[in-house]
Amino acid sequence: MWTAAPWLMHSSGGARWVEQNYGEYDMTDCIFCKIAAGEIPADILYENEDVLAFRDLNPQAPTHVLVIPRRHISTLNDLQPEDAELVGKMSLAAKTVARQEGIAEEGYRTVFNCNAGAGQTVFHIHMHVLGGRPMHWPPG
Ligand code: 5GP
Ligand code: ZN
Repeated sequence: MWTAAPWLMHSSGGARWVEQNYGEYDMTDCIFCKIAAGEIPADILYENEDVLAFRDLNPQAPTHVLVIPRRHISTLNDLQPEDAELVGKMSLAAKTVARQEGIAEEGYRTVFNCNAGAGQTVFHIHMHVLGGRPMHWPPG
């Protein structure tokens, strides 16, 4: 059971407070919001009303695509239960792009980096879709 406050939501269990990162967000600060709004260019491979996919500017594999929600959410830590469908749509977009790029059958990797310790540099959630070369494990 969740109770809403203007900027914070609090679980009745008292275990955690989570910031609400959307609604009032100033998208002029976010490069991926600008791409979603068409204000800066990107090589867009797929889009619908909720998500879009575009090529990474600094590719780490022959295919390196980023899937983002149009709506600003800073990190995976900020996801709310009502975002479940949106994250599912990101996975479906990744599947579509992988098929378009011809890497669906050979295999590809999807990655969300969450916060600086995991390598997140753009604080608008994004799923990396990497393929076209062997992927190793552990990822490092
Ligand atoms: P992160 O390090 O946050 O997981 O991933 C951010 C990714 O965004 C990086 O792989 C970086 O190359 C990519 N990136 C950063 N700025 C831009 C940009 O303006 N356009 C595109 N297409 N990719 C970007
Ligand atoms: Zn954003």
